[in-house]
Amino acid sequence: MFPAYCFHCEERLEKVQQRLCAGCKEQLLLLKSEGRCLKCFGQIETLSGVCHSCRKTSHAHKRAAACFEKVGAAASLHRQFAQGRLFLAKDLAALMILQLEQLNWPEPTLVTHVPLPLEERLWQGFDPSKELASLLGKWMNVPTKKALLKNEIVLLIEDRMSQLFSHAETLLESAPAAIYGLAFLAQD
Ligand SMILES: [Zn+2]
Ligand SMILES: [Zn+2]
Repeated sequence: MFPAYCFHCEERLEKVQQRLCAGCKEQLLLLKSEGRCLKCFGQIETLSGVCHSCRKTSHAHKRAAACFEKVGAAASLHRQFAQGRLFLAKDLAALMILQLEQLNWPEPTLVTHVPLPLEERLWQGFDPSKELASLLGKWMNVPTKKALLKNEIVLLIEDRMSQLFSHAETLLESAPAAIYGLAFLAQD
């Protein structure tokens, strides 16, 4: 067996399966939806509601949320995953499941993902959001493909919140009942 190191601080780990040392693991606190905009998950001053800029725009999605800010151990885990350590998909998806439980959104009837632009996908060799969506679909026992989106409750998955809103716009043309967007990392 080769030695394992924490994916964030590089401290030596006792077990390969650990991914993070105890100290870094403690940093992994899921973001709470309280005090966050229902549409973009940005911080707001009230407990619940919609931020100033979202009030001025109409969004295709009903809710959007993220698991973590783009810092610390969560950002390191994501970076390692996006760089091709596909085995980390399970770790990220498990944290997304926990966040879904906390968010308490309606059960989706379809789990889909924001596709990585073709050029990036070719360069990267895989699509991180697709990996996460297929695991979530499997674990939640919800299909990840449907011929028609009409009347479906769509859970839209992205690894980092960047194209979530624009992709929701394109899905809206197919008349789903509602779109909920979950990203592993929040917007910058
Ligand atoms: Zn560490
Ligand atoms: Zn907002």
